[in-house]
Amino acid sequence: MKELKHFILVGAPASGKGTQGRFLADTFGLHSLSTGSLLRREVESCTELGRKALSYMDRAMLVPDEIVNDMVRGWLSEMDHGAWLLDGYPRTVAQAEALDHFLNQRGTSVDVVVWMDVSRELIEQRIMRRRECSTCGYVVQTPEEECSKCGGKMVSRKDDNMEAFARRWKDFEAMTLPVARYYEARGLVVKMTVSEEREPADVSRDLARKLEEYRQ
Ligand code: AMP
Repeated sequence: MKELKHFILVGAPASGKGTQGRFLADTFGLHSLSTGSLLRREVESCTELGRKALSYMDRAMLVPDEIVNDMVRGWLSEMDHGAWLLDGYPRTVAQAEALDHFLNQRGTSVDVVVWMDVSRELIEQRIMRRRECSTCGYVVQTPEEECSKCGGKMVSRKDDNMEAFARRWKDFEAMTLPVARYYEARGLVVKMTVSEEREPADVSRDLARKLEEYRQ
């Protein structure tokens, strides 16, 4: 049986990565890193890194590989032997190669890549409804005003509008789908195809079953 300690979650914006990421973290006891959330925190704290990242994020563009690679390496170095999940990274093949190189040097590797394959139509519907907690980052698919986790204020993300979505989708197809294929060629992918709205708990159940099969 394969040991599953190092997870990667790949998927378009609003494909359910955040929700399934939390499920995986709870089920497998993983420390998780969402590069998007970390970047947004850097922006809010007005750090040097946040300032650099903001000019790209404001235009719904990918932040340059070197910035994100450094950030992720820093985080992974602190993880040491822990089990982890990366959500929203790698987003380009260059990032995937940099990650492989970094892990190889430390004598370790990615164990499994969960690919959330969700149709564009479904994602468009979701994006217009999505709200995120400005305090804890909790994401919901309904236009709520108060966070059910911490009571914080729920807001629309700046990049959740159709124009920004069109750009992010284009980047996703051009740059991130090749990442899924990069890992697929290595036999590391568990693919979840979602073509119509389903309860997150049902998707999690399917995902758990597929991971069990993959592990054998
Ligand atoms: P997300 O919350 O994952 O949708 O990320 C929000 C924004 O952060 C993206 O639109 C990018 O500008 C930036 N970002 C997050 N992760 C990455 C990454 N791996 N590479 C480049 N930019 C990223």
